[in-house]
Amino acid sequence: MPTYFVRTFGCQMNEHDSERIAGLLEAEGYTKADDADAADLVVLNTCAIRENADNRLYGTLGQLKHAKQRRPEMRIAVGGCLVQKDKGLIIERAPWVDAAFGTFAVGELPALLERRERTGVPAFEFREQTEVFPSALPARRTDPFHAWVAVSVGCDNACTFCIVPSVRGPQVSRRMGEILDEVGALMDEGVVEVTLLGQNVNTYGRDLDGRPLFAELLRALDGVDGLRRVRFTSPHPHDFTPDVIDAMASSSVVCEHIHFPMQSGSDRVLRRMRRSYRIERYLAWLEQIRDAIPAVAVSTDIIVGFPGETEEDFAGTLAAVERARFDSAYTFRYSVRPGTEAAGMDGGVDPAMVAERFDRLVAAQERISLERNQAAIGERVEILIEEPASRKDRRRATGRTRTNKIVHVPGAGRVAGEFVDVVVTGAHPHHLDALPA
Ligand code: SAM
Ligand code: SF4
Repeated sequence: MPTYFVRTFGCQMNEHDSERIAGLLEAEGYTKADDADAADLVVLNTCAIRENADNRLYGTLGQLKHAKQRRPEMRIAVGGCLVQKDKGLIIERAPWVDAAFGTFAVGELPALLERRERTGVPAFEFREQTEVFPSALPARRTDPFHAWVAVSVGCDNACTFCIVPSVRGPQVSRRMGEILDEVGALMDEGVVEVTLLGQNVNTYGRDLDGRPLFAELLRALDGVDGLRRVRFTSPHPHDFTPDVIDAMASSSVVCEHIHFPMQSGSDRVLRRMRRSYRIERYLAWLEQIRDAIPAVAVSTDIIVGFPGETEEDFAGTLAAVERARFDSAYTFRYSVRPGTEAAGMDGGVDPAMVAERFDRLVAAQERISLERNQAAIGERVEILIEEPASRKDRRRATGRTRTNKIVHVPGAGRVAGEFVDVVVTGAHPHHLDALPA
């Protein structure tokens, strides 16, 4: 039987799509290989969000070229956002690629591979809109206890730095009944946690007849038998309506964690980014969320070095970080994405200055993350075991709290997918230590 290996770059939507790619290939009779070197077919699911994602892809393709020289029968397929962005360019730059498929053509992979064999030349397929929701395709999930469930694809916003709307298209939501049917079927397979996915997940339903709302979806999931945890990503701060907050607060399954991407603490920069809020508004929303859900943990995204960012703007970001006291933050150096509005803006920030600001931001956030984690010492919490024992330390298992914090516990006897009550004994910026309660 032929073997495959899928390598995923980028966000959770790509992880979701990769599980579908694996599912499709297994339905065609492929089995999973342990690594790319041994596989008959290597699939790269790419990301275009920042420039280093481009560089990493072309670096990986360079390595695969050598592997293919040694094993000419090996096949290489490339899919995802970078393919959607670069279209035929990928085959021009890497003619040893056998198949390329855009974000709307995940389901085409088996047909493309077949066409490649029949014609002897690379096959590719790009579409400009979703015809088959990838969730409708078979999945081979990485963790049997967890499932990604796409509720929408695409994004109707136009943040000036972001390439997502141009590679994932406008928002298209799935019907609520279809989502609930999928979740029901997942329960029968033993899944206990689902993560709802959408590029702008909390505007779910806006494009559907009857305009079902994200809050309604959260409420409907509360009644699903067997479902223990619901997460969602990635939301836009603007769309955390009181109704969504209320649905979260009253639900027993929606986890006490929100991702609340701030991007910048300077109103001038937020305006140039075309983010719809200003920083005081953002911080006020955060306060409302914390009032309604006292146990909530908050993570964020912040971009440093957006065109025109001054030292004063950056000081605004640092001040906002101090006031917001996020549990964690994904921090990014601004990366020019050709075709986006910000790519045409002047005021590029000197890379050395960006690096220096970035380090200051990370240091501030690490201190705050540590302080927030230290506050959890002594608390009794439920964790879901994700890794029975890590590769680094065979005696240590890793789980996650409802608040999305990584927890290390003694590993003996722990099984992935099991819930354990623990008492937090130690804190670090990015994880907690705990002992069984
Ligand atoms: N939809 C989400 C939102 O509205 O916040 C974000 C999706 S994007 C995949 C994830 C994060 O990548 C963004 O929140 C932003 O911080 C970062 N990002 C996007 N474009 C970027 C760029 N050109 N340079 C640096 N970071 C970027
Ligand atoms: Fe990109 Fe998110 Fe803005 Fe949409 S809302 S354009 S995905 S950053």
